[in-house]
This record gives sequence, structure tokens and C-alpha cells, in this order.
Amino acid sequence: MRYMERTLVLIKPDAIEKRISGLILDRLDHLGLQMTGAKVVSLTEELARAHYKNLEGKPFLEEVIQYMMGEFNNVPNHKIYAFVFQGENAIAKVRQEIGSTNPEKAAPWTIRGSFGRFIGDVMQNCVHASGSPEDAEKEIALWFKPEEVLDR
Ligand code: UDP
Ligand code: MG
Repeated sequence: MRYMERTLVLIKPDAIEKRISGLILDRLDHLGLQMTGAKVVSLTEELARAHYKNLEGKPFLEEVIQYMMGEFNNVPNHKIYAFVFQGENAIAKVRQEIGSTNPEKAAPWTIRGSFGRFIGDVMQNCVHASGSPEDAEKEIALWFKPEEVLDR
């Protein structure tokens, strides 16, 4: 078991457009983790590409960048809501709650299973959450300044 992990959670433009960020945070709150960072970000293409660097070479990368930049949703200012959650097993707990990447395959009671959908080939799956401790630390450093995160 891992202790005191941190994980980056992003509420993506489709969830902002649907006004379900409160519902998503409610489900994450119930996991019993500590929210140690929270902000509204105006996403730049540079940050979007750095965040999804591991998708380089994938055929869907450009559409995923467009999705994250808000081009498929009616959301101004390239808005993304970003959070850090901390606690025991935080990464697995959050991943379990959000469900599988593909919203049509995600369990119905998960966030992605409840609220995700396909728009063309893009999985509009409402949330991002880090997949490993290494990814989490890299991603938190991309999205937050150290002084913007508590309890460190
Ligand atoms: N994605 C997509 N089509 C795919 C795979 C991924 O649209 O075939 C998008 C989707 O929004 C996903 C993101 O790219 O959340 C990052 O992909 P990853 O495999 O890292 O999935 P995640 O870690 O978000 O579950
Ligand atoms: Mg991933």
C-alpha cells in the first residue's frame, strides 16, 4: 500500500460546460482525501502538449489537444479546473472513482461512466487523474507552483 500519495485531477471542458464540476467534486470528496490545491486555469496549447506528452505519436493526439483547449465545448477562456488531492492510495482511489478511459466501457456508477461520451473519435470523459506516482509528481509540477499546494 502506498501512503500519502498526491494526484492531479483536472475537470475537463465538457464537464465545465455541463455544469457538473460540483457533482464530480462531491464524488471525489467522499473518497476521504485531502484537497491541497485548487485553481481555475486558462489552458495554453504548450501546457496541454506538455501534459499529454506521453500521447505523442498517437493518431488522436491533435483532437485531444483541441478538446482540452475547449474547441468542442462552449467554454470561454480555455478553462480547466485543476486540483491536487493527497492521501493514502490517492492515485488508485481517484482512478477507481473516475472509471475507465473509454466512457462507454467505464462502469456506469463511475464519473466517466455517468457523464462521459464520445464526440467523433474523442473520448470526452470529463476528468483527468494521474496514473502513477511518477506521472502525478510531473503533472503537479506542470500545473501548480510549489507554494500553491498545501501540506508538503
Ligand atoms: N483519448 C481519446 N481516445 C483514445 C485514448 C485517449 O480521446 O483512444 C483521450 C481521452 O480524453 C483520455 C486522454 O486522451 O482521457 C488521455 O489518454 P490516456 O490513455 O492517458 O487515458 P486516461 O489516463 O485519461 O484514462
Ligand atoms: Mg493517462
